[in-house]
Amino acid sequence: MRTPMIAGNWKLHKTLDEAVNLVGALKTKVKDVDNVEILVAPPFTAISMLATKLAGSNIKIGAQNCYFEPSGAFTGELSAPLLKDAGCDYVIVGHSERRQIFGESIEMINNKVKAVLEAGLSVILCIGETLEERESGEMYDILTAQVKEGLAGVTDMERVVIAYEPVWAIGTGKTASSEQAQEVHSFVRGLVQGLYTPEIAAATRILYGGSVKPGNVDELMAQSDVDGALVGGASLVAEDFARIVKFE
Ligand code: PEP
Repeated sequence: MRTPMIAGNWKLHKTLDEAVNLVGALKTKVKDVDNVEILVAPPFTAISMLATKLAGSNIKIGAQNCYFEPSGAFTGELSAPLLKDAGCDYVIVGHSERRQIFGESIEMINNKVKAVLEAGLSVILCIGETLEERESGEMYDILTAQVKEGLAGVTDMERVVIAYEPVWAIGTGKTASSEQAQEVHSFVRGLVQGLYTPEIAAATRILYGGSVKPGNVDELMAQSDVDGALVGGASLVAEDFARIVKFE
């Protein structure tokens, strides 16, 4: 009942030419895939160009961040309505790099989630614990706060995807084992059930992120509560990302 989703987070990579080349190659490689929702989240500068290039294809476009106000005197920021206008379907919110490097609070992340939904877009809400939080036994409290406070005031869960990204596994080459991923995904689904209904929990997609590669995607996707992947490094190479999209 949950359509798998494979999303690529390009972070701060790819000039316009490189971005066009990457989606050109990707489009050909995944053109026959009709059972997976495919998303690329390029840098802001490439969004509208890629929206043109990907029109009519099976690849959607997401943004990696947004501000929570729709417009106004916020120099340097981009809003959800502007991202929609540029061709986005999704916005990634609360990535650990935003939390850690840019100091985003749970309250700010919650405001962004609501702003994205208000604009009519879908959101990928990222959550995840640091190694220290895992080892000190605080992991489940941290994840609970990230889910509950991140979703505070949200009623439209149909347009919410959650991405569990253990911070210690992002860009490090260390992947959570498929058992570790399943354990947390099942816990998160239970949190969604507690906040909403069993039906909503059963319909909510929970992606795994953290060093997903062609070599480990199949095992991760075989877990019953892993509904897809948010992919960083491997999404920058068409062949690798296409193989992840075509997980077995
Ligand atoms: C990410 O940035 O969301 C991510 C999971 O990165 P990587 O796949 O490179 O670990």
